[in-house]
Amino acid sequence: KPIIIWFRKDFRLADHKALCEASRSGRPIIPVVVLDEVTETFGAAPKWRLAQAIEHFNDRLKAVGSRLILRRGTFADELLALAQETGAGDIWWTRAYDPDAIMRDTKVKSSLKEAGIGAESWPGHLLFEPWAVTTKQGGFFKVYSPMWRAVKDLDVAPPDPAPLRLMAPQKWPDSDRLSGWALDKSMDRGAKVLARHANVGESAAHARLANFLSGSIGAYKERRDYPAQNATSRLSENLAWGEIGPRTVWHAGLHAHLEGQRGAEHFLKELVWREFSYHLAFHTPEITHKNWRSEWDAFPWSDHEDEEVLRWKQGRTGVPLVDAAMREMYVTGHMHNRGRMIVGSYLTKHMLKHWRIGQKWFEECLIDWDPAANAMGWQWVAGSGPDAAPYFRIFNPETQAQKFDAEQTYIQRFVAERAPDPGPEALAFFDACPRAWGLSPDDPYPTPIVGLAEGRQRALAAYEAR
Ligand code: FAD
Repeated sequence: KPIIIWFRKDFRLADHKALCEASRSGRPIIPVVVLDEVTETFGAAPKWRLAQAIEHFNDRLKAVGSRLILRRGTFADELLALAQETGAGDIWWTRAYDPDAIMRDTKVKSSLKEAGIGAESWPGHLLFEPWAVTTKQGGFFKVYSPMWRAVKDLDVAPPDPAPLRLMAPQKWPDSDRLSGWALDKSMDRGAKVLARHANVGESAAHARLANFLSGSIGAYKERRDYPAQNATSRLSENLAWGEIGPRTVWHAGLHAHLEGQRGAEHFLKELVWREFSYHLAFHTPEITHKNWRSEWDAFPWSDHEDEEVLRWKQGRTGVPLVDAAMREMYVTGHMHNRGRMIVGSYLTKHMLKHWRIGQKWFEECLIDWDPAANAMGWQWVAGSGPDAAPYFRIFNPETQAQKFDAEQTYIQRFVAERAPDPGPEALAFFDACPRAWGLSPDDPYPTPIVGLAEGRQRALAAYEAR
């Protein structure tokens, strides 16, 4: 009887436990992706990027004698129908840990079991299962550093090899056409700008890792905070869609560390931030939508999507480093980590807007959108999360620019109005943004929404009065 492998955010052949075990079983394999209404609510950029991931993965499957079946509808119904159609005895998938996914998977599992179909989930999205790493008291980690100390010497299972051939079923079931799903419908800038910056597919992900390990890793610790420098791995995009497995990245980083490569340990530490965010999302699912610390519920953050919020989204706050980062995200689908912290601090502190507004806009724009890292990042920046930056520590974007973009390379790369001779990325923003915004590179650069000193005072006063 065939095994159906249900792919969600694990578009790879290597380091894929479920697929590897299925291929070892010698049974026919039917790979499937189901588009349900939750996936349809993803932001525009993630949906566009999902389509890219699916297309590339289908090609990859074809190279090993297989193909991807696309179905649209409620997960449980579609999977059940596919199993009945193909006579499949089992449906396997890689476990996911964000709250939406857990709810959905539990439902799917019980309806498949009721119908007498084997349903099994496998590890692979994380290095450590969220229930397998605990504090001495048996709880989960709410602070990052002790978690790092607890996991850094643990064994991580080696990645499973990519199957060379997947056995096809006697007859392939019908499949939707990817174009019919119109995942790029709300993303008219996808092909125009994002495609130039996206690094799609398993081979591209492996090439990116190899490139990082043979290049910038040595200076990673010193240079990773400088947004103009290409000093980080940029693997978040591929990890988000599972085009490379975390175990593969971990073992490559560990190997480099054991060989004495500078920067490698710091890189491993960052991978553990990803784990930390998922362990938090697993144990406290409300992190994605509620203040993790309820004492923040009374804080006077505005939820209102007003003109100021629009200017923040447009990269027109009048604060060059904030605007550069916002536009970097709009045209590349990625934002440097320092940028994420600075725009987040500016929104939640200088502008006094709720972190959920930022979280939602990031979900709309990022091609590395990840529900756990995004939620933790926003709550970290706002001060309401676990192990968060204290609210009174307010990033000053001017001093940040002096320190991390002293030559204004990053600012001028993305903000045409601040560049004597704007380059393609700065101009691409105007090409990409909606006409309704009515923006032109010849517009005068706006005055700040709020003065840096004034905004800081206002935020501190709100903090004191809370
Ligand atoms: P590298 O520096 O090369 O790090 C290697 C890997 O470690 C990354 O690919 C990522 O998987 C992981 N990592 C690094 N830093 C973090 C971190 N702070 N939290 C969790 N994992 C981390 N990351 C996302 O992948 N998706 C998001 O939607 C996302 N939203 C964020 C929102 C805010 C407000 C903040 C402050 C951070 C957010 N991050 C998010 C975390 C971080 O900014 C990105 O993971 C990082 O910039 C990706 O670039 P890189 O792959 O070059 O990272």
